[in-house]
Amino acid sequence: MRRKLAAGNWKMNGTSQSLDDLQTLSKSHPNPSVDLLICPPATLIAPAVQTLGNSAIHIGGQDCHHQTDGAHTGDISAAMLRDAGATAVILGHSERRASHHETSESVRDKARTAQRAGLMTVICLGESLGQRQATNTLDIIGAQLSLSVPDSSTGENLVVAYEPIWAIGSGMTPTPDQIGEVHDFMRSRLERRFGPGVGRSVRLLYGGSVKAANAQEIFDISNVDGALVGGASLTADDFTPIINALE
Ligand code: PGA
Repeated sequence: MRRKLAAGNWKMNGTSQSLDDLQTLSKSHPNPSVDLLICPPATLIAPAVQTLGNSAIHIGGQDCHHQTDGAHTGDISAAMLRDAGATAVILGHSERRASHHETSESVRDKARTAQRAGLMTVICLGESLGQRQATNTLDIIGAQLSLSVPDSSTGENLVVAYEPIWAIGSGMTPTPDQIGEVHDFMRSRLERRFGPGVGRSVRLLYGGSVKAANAQEIFDISNVDGALVGGASLTADDFTPIINALE
């Protein structure tokens, strides 16, 4: 049985005041029956871990470098994330693929380093609207999945998030059939590559305009093990009903 996962991606949002929302979240979910992960900006990782204390909420980064250390101004290593108290990292988000020229190969290298450092990697994939309209979605997802996921992946250190680029922050979502088709496809590809044991234990998240109003319908789809949530994870008020829909 795969444990459900609600993951929040705060992107470039949040200052120390946002820690209040984390505290509210941890108080309203003292013993969650699902895994909760919040990925705040890097500046808030250590303070968030400190604020949460023994809470069941995990804290993660939004990116890390593929090398372990060295002359990389402005970058953060996987070991630094661990040192700050993070247990996970989002990698290959479409915003980073677009604005930081990340390729599936560079995402794989980052993921390998992060997994070696003991972080759970949440690897993001997704097609553009043009690719979907050209009926290339499964080809794109298949290629991104095989290239971005390193061989070192296991059911514990790998989570894959399907995030159609056109659904992120747009209020648009694919139909349940479209989400189900991609998730079933990713599941069968992972089983073929890693064998049924690992392939069936990797959690598959949907991301892109998940909110209270559509969460239940999305979580009822086969092979959807939770969500990666952007805008609606920024406040406890918005994120709580999504977590409740998963519990
Ligand atoms: P959104 O973002 O929920 O605001 O659409 C999702 C994401 O980019 O991870």
